Amino acid sequence: MKIVIVYWHPEPQSFNGAMFRTACRVLANAGHEVRISDLHEMHFDPVSSRNNFTTVKNPDFFKQQIEEMHATVAGGFSKEIDAEMEKIEWCDLMIWQFPLWWFGLPAALKGWVDRVFAMGRVYGLGHYYETGVFRGKRALLSLTTGGTEDAFRQGGFNGDIAGLLRPIERGILEFVGFGVLAPQVVYGPARMTNDEREQQLAAYATRLQNIAQESPIAVGTY
Ligand SMILES: Cc1cc2nc3c(=O)[nH]c(=O)nc-3n(C[C@H](O)[C@H](O)[C@H](O)COP(=O)(O)OP(=O)(O)OC[C@H]3O[C@@H](n4cnc5c(N)ncnc54)[C@H](O)[C@@H]3O)c2cc1C
Repeated sequence: MKIVIVYWHPEPQSFNGAMFRTACRVLANAGHEVRISDLHEMHFDPVSSRNNFTTVKNPDFFKQQIEEMHATVAGGFSKEIDAEMEKIEWCDLMIWQFPLWWFGLPAALKGWVDRVFAMGRVYGLGHYYETGVFRGKRALLSLTTGGTEDAFRQGGFNGDIAGLLRPIERGILEFVGFGVLAPQVVYGPARMTNDEREQQLAAYATRLQNIAQESPIAVGTY
């Protein structure tokens, strides 16, 4: 398979960094082609602006989706945005590796979505959900939390993890056509012993070895 891993954490020695490196190693050893977007290392700017484009449709009033539609036809996405779009178009499977921040994506990764998932090239013109541009591709959220697994059960301190992830899985990934695999969640790695963390990395490695056989989940019903 062709696999792209989009990863963000501000500290390479973090547990997220270890999850990212585990995935790169295991997937490459299994014979998959792997490309990466290490957003921290790339100094990827998460703030959407006219910097997304080399073209201009309306110089007097910046409306992002209008500029995106124009850039789609005119080949007017900036080099850094175009490179990210090409990786998604190329892949069969996209993995996002991140820490849960404020019940959602950290700003760097959310901003990557804001800039890269452009109307025209990535969604729109009748292409949403089942008719999405990326139908047939799959996506995997691999994340860590500060809270324990109990805190993320239904009725728990924070509420059901499935509910928290739904805006990402349904509102972003399925919206553009991806089939979503069951999320890989490591709850509270900072609370674990080193042995427990190593077991989590080993479990992720085992899962990734057979990831090609996995089917998408029904988002919102698991
Ligand atoms: C702005 C902000 C918002 C947040 N919002 C939330 C929230 O809404 N909900 C929530 O639950 N949490 C939240 N958190 C907490 C956050 O989700 C966790 O701190 C994070 O997910 C933990 O992952 P990490 O990679 O940062 O862990 P780290 O603290 O980097 O790692 C944990 C331990 O693993 C060790 N480690 C690294 N590599 C390995 C290895 N190869 N083998 C074994 N051990 C290793 C590290 O040395 C460290 O001791 C928030 C944090 C911030 C800063």
